[in-house]
Order: sequence, then structure tokens, then C-alpha cells
Amino acid sequence: MAKVESFSLDHDAVKAPYVRIAGAEEGPNGDRITKFDLRFVQPNQAAIPTSALHTMEHLIAAYIRDYMDNVIDVSPMGCRTGFYMICWGERTVAEAADAITKTLEDIMKSTWDDVQGTERQQCGNYRDHSLWGAQAYAQEILAQGFSLDAFERQFS
Ligand SMILES: [Zn+2]
Repeated sequence: MAKVESFSLDHDAVKAPYVRIAGAEEGPNGDRITKFDLRFVQPNQAAIPTSALHTMEHLIAAYIRDYMDNVIDVSPMGCRTGFYMICWGERTVAEAADAITKTLEDIMKSTWDDVQGTERQQCGNYRDHSLWGAQAYAQEILAQGFSLDAFERQFS
């Protein structure tokens, strides 16, 4: 059975919100990818409600590529404490933290008309969205800021 990087992280030792590199891999043709742990709330102390997380997911998908090139995917964690982001290339925590910060700032300015993919045909659970919830959590996260170190609050 594969040993999963995320399960070796001490979730009690981290100090959210933070950005961390959760993995960097090279494919058979030499292409490299970087996987980020974008932690929004403190593990085992808080969790973002599904509706807010779901709307954040739709908005992050739309906005983050304005600030970060070569993003492959941003997906919510099952524990609802943050997102994983996978990008092409060798990337830094600082650029990812900057991109997710600007993305949350865009979420704060969004109206319901800005949320893409909310019709039944476009989403697997179109009834389960909350822009109000997404903005309430984004505001709290922005007030704390994304640390560039998972274990010590550090911003440069
Ligand atoms: Zn959806």
C-alpha cells in the first residue's frame, strides 16, 4: 500500500492558514508538477461547511488562473479544511500564497452572477452552494493571512 504524504503530516502541529508544498514529482517524460496544501482553517478545530467550500471551489477554479500560470487542478480536501492545488513545473510557496490570497480577495468582491456552473446541468450538487458562506470564510482567512510556513506563522 502506498504511503501517503499528507497522512505523515502532524495535523495538530500546523498553524493554519498556510501554504505548503505537499509534493513535487517528475513524470516519465521529464515534466515536473508541484502539489500544494492550501490550508484554510485549523485541522480538527474548524471545518468549512460543504456549501461554502463548494462555492469557493467554483470561484477558485475561475479566478486562480488569473494569478498563477499552468494550474492543473484545485480541489477541496475531504476534511473540508482547505484545498489541494496541482500545477505544472517547480513552483514556490510564495507564488501560490500570493495567488490564493488574490483569489480570496476576488471572492470577497463576487456576486452570485460571478459564480459559474451553478445550473443543474453544470454541477453535481447545484442545490448545495453558499456565496455568503464562502465570503464569510474568505474574510476570516484573509484577516489571518496565509503563512509561508506550515508550522510557524511567517509571511516573508
Ligand atoms: Zn459543483
